Amino acid sequence: MIPALSDRDDAADGLAVGALTARLLADDAAHGPGLTGQALIEAVEAAGLRGRGGAGFPAAVKLATMRASPGPKYLVANGEEGEPASIKDRWLMRRRPHLVIEGARRAAEAIGAEETFLYVSDPHSGASLRAALAGCGEAMTVHEVAPGYVAGEETAVVRALNGGPAKPTDKPPRPYQSGVRNRPTLVSNVETLATIALIAMQGRGGDTILLTITGAVERPGLYEVPLGTKLGEALDRLARPFPGMRGVLMGGFFAGLLNRRALDLPLTHDALREAGSGLGCGAIIVIGADDCPIAAAGDVMAYFARENAGQCGACFRGTPAMAKAIEALGLGTIDDAGLAKLKDWSVSLRGRGACGTLDGAAHLASTIFREFPEEVARHRAEPCPRCRALLPAGTTTRFRASRQFDCAAA
Ligand code: SF4
Repeated sequence: MIPALSDRDDAADGLAVGALTARLLADDAAHGPGLTGQALIEAVEAAGLRGRGGAGFPAAVKLATMRASPGPKYLVANGEEGEPASIKDRWLMRRRPHLVIEGARRAAEAIGAEETFLYVSDPHSGASLRAALAGCGEAMTVHEVAPGYVAGEETAVVRALNGGPAKPTDKPPRPYQSGVRNRPTLVSNVETLATIALIAMQGRGGDTILLTITGAVERPGLYEVPLGTKLGEALDRLARPFPGMRGVLMGGFFAGLLNRRALDLPLTHDALREAGSGLGCGAIIVIGADDCPIAAAGDVMAYFARENAGQCGACFRGTPAMAKAIEALGLGTIDDAGLAKLKDWSVSLRGRGACGTLDGAAHLASTIFREFPEEVARHRAEPCPRCRALLPAGTTTRFRASRQFDCAAA
């Protein structure tokens, strides 16, 4: 029987921290000799651990591929938490730095990495990791970059560590083929590595996930729940949505909108993918009774338009065009041709950027039509007061979506 950590308001800034089942959030993670090398990779595979940075790729496959790769290679613990609605990585680095370092140490040993980098943008996380490294005598390099939506994308990570800007590059090659110093490099999210530490030391882990839940809820915060928990249960027992919620922005900004059907979906990568969404980095923004899903999509699209790396024409032209179209929908000024264009872009722009940002933006646009068709029709029929109310006085452009949490919030 897994002991449950009772949820508690222990964050100084009022963000709740709690769990239905505590693994990563528990502060009593046992240390011990544990598993190393091939045995650790097999345990990670048995645990079914999927990467926690967003893509959900099987962690053991990455480890095994890197272990089989000859010659010098590197490990990067990726703590550049670019998703604006997420706080889990910063929380782990600030509150559980030893768990992150232990996971990085074990993963590096398992793949035969000759050097390990801890890649962050939050200075407080960097300081926490440096202090923990000094305390345990581990030789790892903390590399700090300026925060940015795409700065944590794996090719951007490698580019930054090689002395360039933290912006994505075309793939292939992927970092496991050619990364830091042109050598095979494993880029692994810090929650993934912390989970590997638990699997190594406790023989268990990977069966829970961290969620950052914000929006129209009584208790916004960071929560840990067993994988497979229905979203409705996680919300009701932990974050407590206000009555009349209309849906969610799921998995960070990448996985788009879901209407209330989301409440019945189990929190697993596969179930959410089948539902046309994704678990992503576990960031969930609840859209309340007084919120407009079209306005929410418009805010996020404007964020994509502003935060994209400006490298790919389809992205730096396509995201502002989609943002403008959604804004026009909100203001009741879009015509049929404009709406048809938005629908077309939501499909045709996919796969045309160097990184997944444009795919996420196009997917977000498609979920307006799929999840809220009645709202699209209503907005076509009459201007939406909620969308209009969000515009700063005297302007026609809103930029509200932004990094929600500053360093102090972690
Ligand atoms: S797809 Fe967009 S965010 Fe990604 S590299 Fe190209 S311009 Fe930058």
